[in-house]
Amino acid sequence: MENSKKKGLLLIMSGPSGVGKGTVREELMKDKSLNLFYSVSMTTRNMRPGEVNGREYYFVTKEDFMKQVANDNLLEWAEYVGNCYGTPKDKVEDMRNEGKNVLLEIDVKGAENVFKKVPDVISIFIAPPSIEELRNRLRGRGTESEEVINNRVSAASKELEYKKFYKYVVINDKLEDAVEEIRQIIKARM
Ligand code: 5GP
Repeated sequence: MENSKKKGLLLIMSGPSGVGKGTVREELMKDKSLNLFYSVSMTTRNMRPGEVNGREYYFVTKEDFMKQVANDNLLEWAEYVGNCYGTPKDKVEDMRNEGKNVLLEIDVKGAENVFKKVPDVISIFIAPPSIEELRNRLRGRGTESEEVINNRVSAASKELEYKKFYKYVVINDKLEDAVEEIRQIIKARM
């Protein structure tokens, strides 16, 4: 039977830890006209205070994660600063087939794999105004130790080199401006 619904868009948002992806996402999701749905990833990292299993992530053991990889259940996956993160494949497909626009918030390595599989993906890299500002934001968040912050800042410098592979680069200096820019990008493709 023919499915009359237009398939939803696939969007990828990447950017260094602390750049404000989560806040940008929350703001975007408030705009119901974007018909945006967040794909909840799977991770082996520890839950942070305030996080809920199934909302921010599905928190799993390394063993369970590797089973998902072996069964080809993930659209992509990558290791990031010592933990594994991946996107459940079927959920993304189901949502897109229902006409929903699906947002993936994933790291640059994982994104590279999606670029190969899904050529029409809308890719957006969110960059910080500077590395120092990024460090300040991570410190301000107060959820990571200084060691983890250092690891994430050094990962960020490498991640920034990947921004050239993205169709759009948005600098998150002022939150409202970054959100508006992304809103316009999505609207233009809907
Ligand atoms: P955090 O530990 O701060 O929640 O996330 C660390 C990094 O992992 C972020 O850059 C985030 O975008 C990325 N990430 C989250 N979910 C996924 C995923 O499913 N796949 C990949 N490749 N990266 C992810």
